[in-house]
Amino acid sequence: MKLPRRNALLTAPALLAAATAQPALAAQPPVGRQVASLYRTKVGEIEVTAVSDGSIALPPAVFGEANQPEARRILAENFLPTEGPVPLALNTFLVNAGGKLSLIDTGSGHALGPTMGQAPVNLAAQGVTPAMIDSVVLTHMHRDHAGGLCDREGRALYPTSELVIPEVEAAFWFDEANINRVPQGSRGGFAYAKQVEAAYRGRIRRVPGGREVHPGITSMDAFGHTPGHTIYRIASGPAQLLIFGDMVHFPALQTRHPDWGIAFDVDAQAAVATRRRVFDMAAADRLLVAGMHMDFPGLGHIRRDAAGYHLIQAPWRPFL
Ligand SMILES: [Zn+2]
Repeated sequence: MKLPRRNALLTAPALLAAATAQPALAAQPPVGRQVASLYRTKVGEIEVTAVSDGSIALPPAVFGEANQPEARRILAENFLPTEGPVPLALNTFLVNAGGKLSLIDTGSGHALGPTMGQAPVNLAAQGVTPAMIDSVVLTHMHRDHAGGLCDREGRALYPTSELVIPEVEAAFWFDEANINRVPQGSRGGFAYAKQVEAAYRGRIRRVPGGREVHPGITSMDAFGHTPGHTIYRIASGPAQLLIFGDMVHFPALQTRHPDWGIAFDVDAQAAVATRRRVFDMAAADRLLVAGMHMDFPGLGHIRRDAAGYHLIQAPWRPFL
């Protein structure tokens, strides 16, 4: 093939010669951290932005002692560290639908240390401040999801947002009589819920499952992990996305063993039944899913075959 004349210099030997003729660049110090962790996707007319809150290391014991050898085997198979703590990702999702900005979960705020609580910084990187959020919508009240609602003094960090809490979830955590029903490590959640209730008094809306919370955002019961754990179906025309909260904490392990819970499950049996039901629905309906604990940006599909469930992460798309 004869190259047009203007491209004559772009042959491989010419490029190589040009590259090797360049002087060495001045050494730059390594940056040591990621750029702002934001990723947008389109669901019909709705724009959804995955916003990372960071990552935290959990002891492998969260799956129960009996499961350790099998957990290590699967981690090795997936090229994940088999010794020491297991990294747990955390995402929130900003939904721009019907002229409203809704933030599904806030991230952990100051509750879980410096490797978490990054959602506000990442939101700010795209010019979104807390005052611009019309509605904070919770999947559940655990601190990693709701910890960003209040500062250390218990003041609301979203000065004007409505706060949407699943009805059953609010009834549970706003009543301290339930304190003995949760694992020891989660009991601080009741004092925090009291703080949230006071800070957002007058702007809390409790919603049942199966309700269109905002145009295009519908709540669905997914009880078990917590008593009122709720997932959200984002729909615009035929396009759908299922924001599925804590259906999965460690995708590599829990797609293989959907019967493996996590130490923070309030009702472990119900959590397993819900995971199977939601996985089956996502697989059958070929739904794009968004997981709070799936590796950033947390988007993918659940496939079901004879061997079980598999998570297929969605490819990065540079254009919407
Ligand atoms: Zn969680």
